[in-house]
Amino acid sequence: MSLLEVKNLKVHFPVKHGMFSRTHEFVKAVDDVSFAIEPGETLGLVGESGCGKTTLGRAIVRLVEPTAGNVLLDGEDVTRMNGSILRARRRKFQIIFQDPYGSLNPRMTVEQIVGEALDIHKLTDSKPARQKRITELLKAVGLDAIYAQRYPHEFSGGQRQRIGIARALAVEPELIICDEPVSALDVSVQAQIINLLRDLQQERGIAYLFIAHDLAVVEHISRRVMVMYLGKIVETADAKAIIRDPQHPYTQALISAIPEVDPESKRQRIILPGDVPSPIHPPGGCPFHPRCPIAEERCRTEVPAFREVAKNHFAACHLAGTKIDLPRNPARREAV
Ligand code: SF4
Repeated sequence: MSLLEVKNLKVHFPVKHGMFSRTHEFVKAVDDVSFAIEPGETLGLVGESGCGKTTLGRAIVRLVEPTAGNVLLDGEDVTRMNGSILRARRRKFQIIFQDPYGSLNPRMTVEQIVGEALDIHKLTDSKPARQKRITELLKAVGLDAIYAQRYPHEFSGGQRQRIGIARALAVEPELIICDEPVSALDVSVQAQIINLLRDLQQERGIAYLFIAHDLAVVEHISRRVMVMYLGKIVETADAKAIIRDPQHPYTQALISAIPEVDPESKRQRIILPGDVPSPIHPPGGCPFHPRCPIAEERCRTEVPAFREVAKNHFAACHLAGTKIDLPRNPARREAV
């Protein structure tokens, strides 16, 4: 049994118009998404801003209410839980956010922030035990206990993210949703936080859903990667396979944007025309067709099936595996 199973999950937000605020339309932020995460695994989730990846992460932990579908954690359906049962199960899954400052209460000390999670779930039975556990948690994320009485504004961005990780670790979760945890940090600090998450995973066997818009970051930490576009998963595979042989044109465009260390590299950047369409009125057929450099007539009308195109490699594209031919599309190319 998988640690997490997400089945046909949908999150549709109503859009209200007019004097009587009647709902005529919906933003399909997450539209029929299914996947699984095994214990101790890191699954990467990548896509442009607004593709629905943050909403998906929040729906899994019920910070956003799913419209339909199921989220099974250890076989128990989180979408059917409420009240005290949901609160108790929340121990198993935690979330860390892009903006650690915004997610830390500025009026609470580090000790209070980390200790709050211990108190809610009654995880220590005496003051000395609580103090000892807070010291252990701060040490686990690379912070000295002398910082325990300080407030969030006294720390750097990287240190604040460490406090957020310590708070998540306090309840000994089996799964952490990492929602763009390094996007707001300098590159050198990004590497430190990713290495910390990796070390904690090895020590404690925690699984991660690691969300980011940067495929290079996701590939660095994930065993498998999912690519999301307009609320749907369009490709998923082993991280190495997806970088080496992307099957979906959108994934090819994301990979072409990764800067290369080798100055002799001839890789060209694929510039997609237009912006991501509105999720209120997604295009018919393949939702990527208005921006796809290799779209055919049938792409306008036929929804591509999400199918296995190589062993454990899935993509939703009629022409999966066809590479974008840059020299024949000069208007759509640009050297990186
Ligand atoms: Fe492009 Fe057609 Fe594949 Fe969609 S189905 S990604 S439009 S080739």
